[in-house]
Amino acid sequence: MLKPILIHPDPRLKKLADPVADLSDELRTLADDMLATMYDAPGIGLAAPQIGVSKRLIVLDCVKDEGEAPRPLAMFNPEIVASSDETNVYEEGCLSIPDIYAEVTRPAEVEVRWMTLVGKEQQEVFKGLWATCVQHEIDHLDGKLFIDYLKPLKRQMITRKMVKLKRERAREQA
Ligand code: ZN
Repeated sequence: MLKPILIHPDPRLKKLADPVADLSDELRTLADDMLATMYDAPGIGLAAPQIGVSKRLIVLDCVKDEGEAPRPLAMFNPEIVASSDETNVYEEGCLSIPDIYAEVTRPAEVEVRWMTLVGKEQQEVFKGLWATCVQHEIDHLDGKLFIDYLKPLKRQMITRKMVKLKRERAREQA
């Protein structure tokens, strides 16, 4: 089932999300719904707080080449266990901040540990777009958005744009 995605500014996007204790069918359905919502958007990553669920769960699939098989990943309680000193700059966007893109510098490689859909612990090193995406999504679990890396003036300008966008959308629905 597709879920509505929250648009910044929203207090639910600023909250520290709770760790997932035990996997349940409900949580697995939530992960499936998040993947469907992400692909539909379309996007390459989505975090549970973006659909108003304050749980440490993210989904991502950063496969870009058309011939390549998709690689949907759902991560419960993802944690960065190591980051490279080397950094990378990517033009980032966010489904909660539509049509806004800005360059963000982050570690080029990160090692992430998480719990899979079947409750298994997994650890993997991510590079390139995958590294940027997984860091962006984990930030969401800590109430952090990519615009928080920008200068305050730029961030305020973007927030004003989003307030306007939300007002317009509310008017359309009324
Ligand atoms: Zn985002």
